[in-house]
Amino acid sequence: MYAFTKAIVSYLAIYICFTKYQEMKHFDVDLHLHSRFSIGTSPKMDLPRMCETAHLKGVQVLGTGDCLQDVWLEELESSLEKRGDCYELEGIAYVIQTEVETTVKGRVHHLILFPSFSSAHELREVVLNNGYSRLTGGRPQLKISPEELISLVCEVDALVGPSHAFTPWTSMYAAYDSIRECYGENRDLVTFLELGLSADTKMASKLAELDSCTFVSFSDAHSAAPDKLGREFTRFCLRRPSFREIRRAFQGVNGRGVVLNVGLDPREGKYHLTGCRRCKKAYDLEDITADGNVLKTCPECGGPLKIGVKDRIRFLALKSCEVPLAQRPPYIHAVPLLEILKAMKRSNPMNVKKIYGELTREFDNEINILIDAPLGDVRQRHPELAEVLERFRKDAIDFEFVGRGGWYGKIKI
Ligand SMILES: [Zn+2]
Ligand SMILES: [Zn+2]
Repeated sequence: MYAFTKAIVSYLAIYICFTKYQEMKHFDVDLHLHSRFSIGTSPKMDLPRMCETAHLKGVQVLGTGDCLQDVWLEELESSLEKRGDCYELEGIAYVIQTEVETTVKGRVHHLILFPSFSSAHELREVVLNNGYSRLTGGRPQLKISPEELISLVCEVDALVGPSHAFTPWTSMYAAYDSIRECYGENRDLVTFLELGLSADTKMASKLAELDSCTFVSFSDAHSAAPDKLGREFTRFCLRRPSFREIRRAFQGVNGRGVVLNVGLDPREGKYHLTGCRRCKKAYDLEDITADGNVLKTCPECGGPLKIGVKDRIRFLALKSCEVPLAQRPPYIHAVPLLEILKAMKRSNPMNVKKIYGELTREFDNEINILIDAPLGDVRQRHPELAEVLERFRKDAIDFEFVGRGGWYGKIKI
């Protein structure tokens, strides 16, 4: 009996030590990237540069991008080190990740996260053996429906959700009026949704059908420049920076979860308002609707019109008869520090780089300056910047131009 009690006590002691050792921590995570094998991506988008920028920004976990592309996959496998269930390189954790486009029933982009390289290989084989795609590009087009994609992805134990769900091109809400319509029978297997650059939590929360989805904000970076990579990120509470922990966060297991979303003010996004690609004029949806149909061309110049994310969400929310109930983590609007410095010192780009380097060294990283450091500390070092950051943190930024028709918005400093 004594031996039994002793065994129980030592087991408990080990358990307590272990759980204490494995304390929850916050991780800033950017899981939507592209490699140099995706169309329109910088040829300099490689692993050393990705790691370097992640350290500058203060992002601790990155998506690999394009993991179904064979050359890039080989490079990832030979570079990333496996530690327990985490992949790592130069102090940055990685999650095996890709974006794909489904082309049956509309062109829709989806973000896929894999537990391991073998899981990515399994999906590659299924796709190649069935002739769904040749998988040569970074972001492959698959000749299947979103519903079929979910089945394939779940088969290899990976996670999937819509990328930049609201943009008027190649997104779920560009092609469908509801998430159920998009993913059909498999809708309940979709646990996260990427907001994209033109939407934020406040906008997307208007749709009750998304109540069970975790909102994530990632950069969709096509270059490793510090104003692209990590320009949007999600702060997770996790034990370790691994796929398994991120999946538990989506399930809300034992205190894991998303605690903060950070991204551009949606007014900066290229498709916030409805507007004309050619003359940049913005329109109210009512003014370009005749007999229930929205005009395709600009009444002013004849250029192509694109319905903005703001109007799209308003339209979908009006159609829904349910009221959203989900409580969401806060969303902070932030602009890359380089962009802020450029707007403050327009004439001298060399000076901007120098100040950026000094600031990130002094404050450890960019996210600390933008989000976490006390404003008093920034004010001591750079009073002018502190003033701008204060307005950001209070969400009191004005815009010279609000994004529309494929044109980025421009903040007023
Ligand atoms: Zn995309
Ligand atoms: Zn026009």
